[in-house]
Amino acid sequence: MKTITSFIAVCSTVFTLGFLGAPAHAANSTATRPVTPITHMKNPALARTQSARPANSVPSTTFAYHGGPVMTEPVNLYVIWYGQWPSLSRKKPVVQRVLRTLGQSTYFGINTAYTQSNGKHVTHTVHLAAETVDAYSSGKVLQDASVATIVGRNISSTPSFRTNANTADKNGIYIVISSSDVRNTSGFLTTYCGWHSSGTMGNIVTKFIFAGDPSANLIVCAPPTNRDHSPNDYPGMDAAASTIAHEISETVTDPELNAWFDDNHMENADLCAWQYGKTYSTNQAQANLQFEWRDYLIQENWNLTTHSCSLN
Ligand SMILES: [Zn+2]
Repeated sequence: MKTITSFIAVCSTVFTLGFLGAPAHAANSTATRPVTPITHMKNPALARTQSARPANSVPSTTFAYHGGPVMTEPVNLYVIWYGQWPSLSRKKPVVQRVLRTLGQSTYFGINTAYTQSNGKHVTHTVHLAAETVDAYSSGKVLQDASVATIVGRNISSTPSFRTNANTADKNGIYIVISSSDVRNTSGFLTTYCGWHSSGTMGNIVTKFIFAGDPSANLIVCAPPTNRDHSPNDYPGMDAAASTIAHEISETVTDPELNAWFDDNHMENADLCAWQYGKTYSTNQAQANLQFEWRDYLIQENWNLTTHSCSLN
């Protein structure tokens, strides 16, 4: 994992987004973690003949609450389509359908079992609040620190990304989704498929996610069954939809990286990465859930009630 130690000053004089980093999968146990990007690691089953580890084969015994906040208020999603995303692209809707209806799903409902110290639960309400396209404002080769810059820049330049008080949205999750021609040399498509983190913008704790279209190296970030074909015809975007669902589940249950995780710094969705439960065949691929009546293969999530990975 990488370490990012400096605060990142964003171009705007109004909004700056601090972003601290530290080793993510360190073996030591610590209850107070520095703010760090928690990465969604690559598929361990790279070969087509391998399958992901069997569901629930490695139950976490140390997964626990560590005292920090969860997201209890209705969540607003803000999407920054970074790179080349033509308005008529049929790729964006693959992810948009999930983001539009995630809050209504029993799948997202898994997260609502998670609570914070005052007993409040994670909200079941998630809105896709606003979207924008950023045509390479930080170039085609990013690093993880660039993502904080991109988020800050777009909050500064996009009125619909701010609250009525003209601040970043403390109930927001800002999601940077890069097109397939954009590289992130910090590890995208080599060690990870996405991550989430948070930083301070003004006095607002701002949550953000990085994910991308992994088509440039699909074997790393798409399940073996869905690389040649996928439920929605774009294997990269189908894979990204699962990664983004993963990161949203982690963001609402561990927004400041001090709430729900285990001794290996694994968050709820990390415990179920690359596990899909019962699947069915569609479009020469596998799926397990529907959003807006379209099929998806979305990874399972850690169910606090059953102490196992599940889809609802
Ligand atoms: Zn994760």
